[in-house]
Amino acid sequence: MPSVQAIDREPSPPTTTLGYALFATRWLQAPLYFGLVAAQGVYVYKFFNELWALILRCVTGQATENYVMLAVLKLVDVVMIANLLIMVIVGGYETFVSRIGLQGHRDQPEWLSHVNSNVLKVKLATAIVGISSVHLLQMFVDVHRTSQHSLLWGTVIHMAFIASAAILAYMSGPMAAHAERAHQQTHHQEPVPEAPAAKVFVPAQSGPREDEPSAEERLRAAGFPARKLLEDFDSEHPRSFDRETVARLGKLDFVTAGRNVVFVGPPGTGKTHLAVGLGVRACQAGHSVLFASAAQWAARLAAARDAGRLARELAALDAHALLIVDEVGYTPFDPETAALFFQLVAHRYERASLIVTSDRPLARWDEVFGGPSALAMADRLAHHAELVRIEGESYRMRRATSAWAD
Ligand code: ADP
Ligand code: MG
Repeated sequence: MPSVQAIDREPSPPTTTLGYALFATRWLQAPLYFGLVAAQGVYVYKFFNELWALILRCVTGQATENYVMLAVLKLVDVVMIANLLIMVIVGGYETFVSRIGLQGHRDQPEWLSHVNSNVLKVKLATAIVGISSVHLLQMFVDVHRTSQHSLLWGTVIHMAFIASAAILAYMSGPMAAHAERAHQQTHHQEPVPEAPAAKVFVPAQSGPREDEPSAEERLRAAGFPARKLLEDFDSEHPRSFDRETVARLGKLDFVTAGRNVVFVGPPGTGKTHLAVGLGVRACQAGHSVLFASAAQWAARLAAARDAGRLARELAALDAHALLIVDEVGYTPFDPETAALFFQLVAHRYERASLIVTSDRPLARWDEVFGGPSALAMADRLAHHAELVRIEGESYRMRRATSAWAD
């Protein structure tokens, strides 16, 4: 059996050794971020120092109202600088050094999904404005001890920060739009529709935020062939079917855990129905979902490979917590297409979820994917996967025959 890695590797676009070497120098930056982590530690120390002083003063009754306000503002200031630091550490590392791979992490910050140097700059600028307003407020609270000169300059500098943040935000608007357009142009010949909103979206654990697409937008972006609900699935119809497993899958823990689901059964037994039903739930729970048939996925991945950007395409698909690959096995794949599927499965392995539906049991996937790579893929897919076997007559036939009987 060939090693997993051998198939895993992607036909890389031509890049010079020199280019690679230059690119590798980004790792020189990594220690800088750890240095910032140490600085973060200094701020934690400073914070508790200030807090302790404040408590002591309050307990000994030496704290005037002004003093308390100033001390609290100082604490807020320290926290804001710490926030700024974490933004630079995580965002900068992710943008300039290496992916951290927080997709699906329950604490993933909302901005990290679409972080780039533009977004980061604007975030930093607004954080600085926040800090400078706290400073200004401190001056005003302590106004009789602040010289007019520092008050004037404090205000001017604060205005300068506001102006530069506004300019950065204004400039990043057209830049983001430009990037979006470029992205769409490279995507637009592809058969699988992708909604622009879905790209920047990352699953949230909490309620919806204003800048996130609504459940309805996510449902539209997912490209379901029809909106089938789990509730509409008649679990009495299949001759054999694991009701409990599907009920448990409906709670969507598999999405947050990055696990896969495989529905296997004869045609018409509701595999697509169940896959879509789970997808609809996931959309409603705030996850981004993308549905397409295996043939459509094959075309999409092949187009990306031919354009030399398969790796980028796979990384872009990370924005979707759940991908549904319907009708695997409907038509056999040539070895290259099979390899593309293998890469998709390997890329998402233990990071993000896939739902696959197939008329064929996994043991017969070699007929679809040809040869031993099929076994390796089935292995990866099935490991950490919930396998749901459905047996019975086609639901379509049942309806036809019962209509006939009526
Ligand atoms: P498959 O993907 O397994 O070929 P589908 O999910 O496309 O089957 O099902 C065919 C049709 O029958 C769909 O309209 C689906 O909603 C319906 N259907 C199948 N099984 C059930 C069921 N147990 N309860 C309700 N509707 C079902
Ligand atoms: Mg189907």
